[in-house]
Amino acid sequence: PKVDNPYVGAGVYVNPDWSAKAAAEPGGARIANQPTAVWLDRIAAITGTTSGRGLRAHLDEAVRQSAGKPLVIQLVIYNLPGRDCSALASNGELKANELGRYQTEYIDPIAAILADPKYSTLRIVNVIELDSLPNLVTNVTPRPTATPECDVMKANGNYVKGVGHALAKFGPIPNVYNYIDIGHHGWLGWDDNLGPSAALMAEAARTSGSTTANVHGFIANAANYGALKEPYFTVNDSVGGTSVRTSKWVDWNRYVDELSYAQGFRQEAIRAGFSADVGMLIDTSRNGWGGAARPTGPGPSTTVDAYVNGSRTDRRIHLGNWCNQAGAGLGERPKAAPEPGIDAYVWVKPPGESDGASKEIPNTEGKGFDRMCDPTYTGNPRNQYNLSGALPDAPLSGHWFSAQFQELMKNAYPAL
Ligand code: BGC
Repeated sequence: PKVDNPYVGAGVYVNPDWSAKAAAEPGGARIANQPTAVWLDRIAAITGTTSGRGLRAHLDEAVRQSAGKPLVIQLVIYNLPGRDCSALASNGELKANELGRYQTEYIDPIAAILADPKYSTLRIVNVIELDSLPNLVTNVTPRPTATPECDVMKANGNYVKGVGHALAKFGPIPNVYNYIDIGHHGWLGWDDNLGPSAALMAEAARTSGSTTANVHGFIANAANYGALKEPYFTVNDSVGGTSVRTSKWVDWNRYVDELSYAQGFRQEAIRAGFSADVGMLIDTSRNGWGGAARPTGPGPSTTVDAYVNGSRTDRRIHLGNWCNQAGAGLGERPKAAPEPGIDAYVWVKPPGESDGASKEIPNTEGKGFDRMCDPTYTGNPRNQYNLSGALPDAPLSGHWFSAQFQELMKNAYPAL
């Protein structure tokens, strides 16, 4: 039987592969014992690759770490056909029409391992397919942000069918907890995105033989940089009678940070037909925004733009920027039940692993070159043609990026 919040009263698995890389960095020992998620980002990750041990080896190690006490292990299920349709940096190995391979070579073998009675004492949290369903809401025709690849994935239905299949296979395993990705406030926080996203997630949860009962909750801000709490302004503030929602930064969004977004989405999901018990996770691995550039109070009450820009701790050039953001820091350390409706703060994106290469790098992982990772790029409709804000000299997505790791520690908030 599942517990309401798997994080309560439980330890969380420390991935030894990530931990070793963190510990090898100067100063890295301060965080090397933090729990981070294990990414199953290709079929070969099930048995293991040069970048990490396989799934059974992780689960065996988790049983060892648990030492007879409750332990959560966090897995990222991330290999849909036509993966990452609005960007190139994390394109995957499966082509847009390879739903069959996704099911039989990826999801079904993972489900068989997770159902092994050897692992029945673990609490297994599955983060389901980042960015996929959100892309089908915002990055499709007739939106100006549409991409041809996302139009294909909407038309062939393979994201919805793939997510449904994953939920249908994992949900019935008594110790597995599925959390669906909901992007972040700077993506789905607008009124015309929020309701349709919850509706699409409910549709996916009822596809391929699944029901909404297979969904334990949702995760916000996975691998993104949105501030957890903006301490110096709220979406309800106004300057001289003008709402901050009219500012360039907020741009009519209903939310200005991830905690309020996650709590708001939770209500929307319940309205869309999910259980009233759903819980939220927030990825706080890289949304700390500390360091010297962090504001210490509200901005000037001259114009809404001056006020918001002076107040906001999220120092990105634009909310749509997502790759290796300069100035970011580690966020809240992983924590169970930190706020109402929130099951945990988690570190899903392992700090120090790149979001994408800043130049083209040939590879055999299916990964493309996305110019959102190039600091000289002046943008596209999805970041309203702003500079990308990315750090230079980044390796392929998922590969170790020492300079970023160091900057994340330097700008950590709370400070290390
Ligand atoms: C990459 C994955 C990697 C993950 C975690 C993603 O951007 O595409 O290969 O495992 O980040 O670093």
